[in-house]
Amino acid sequence: MVARIHHIGIAVHSLEAAVRVYGEGLGLVPSPVEEVPAQQVKLVMLPVGESRVELLETTAPEGPVGRFLSSRGEGVHHLALAVEDLEAALAGARRAGLRLIDERPREGAHGTKVAFVHPRSTCGVLLELVEESRGDLGGARGGGVT
Ligand code: ZN
Repeated sequence: MVARIHHIGIAVHSLEAAVRVYGEGLGLVPSPVEEVPAQQVKLVMLPVGESRVELLETTAPEGPVGRFLSSRGEGVHHLALAVEDLEAALAGARRAGLRLIDERPREGAHGTKVAFVHPRSTCGVLLELVEESRGDLGGARGGGVT
């Protein structure tokens, strides 16, 4: 079951410049930079109520965000939905005929489990399903760790 919008991922050329826009420009408070080698990105999360803006800078031109930036430029990259049980959400999506990029959960940022669903099966939007680790539900504040 989908609980809420977890975050919106935005592909950017420069984290530093983007943090100035979303942090200083809008008063959002950025987390420390985290690198996710599996997805070839560095990212910063900025809490917005129960959700977050996720700024993504590629660490490799051929990575998923690198390819997105070179073909489409900066912009909204994916929509992430928080689910209570990622295995169950994936099974439901599979039954409904959605095209899964990840057949099983993998490591996301900040100790989450994530799986992506192909935009061709979700009206053109890359979807990320996120299950937060226990005891970290909605933990967008303390220590900058979400
Ligand atoms: Zn994301």
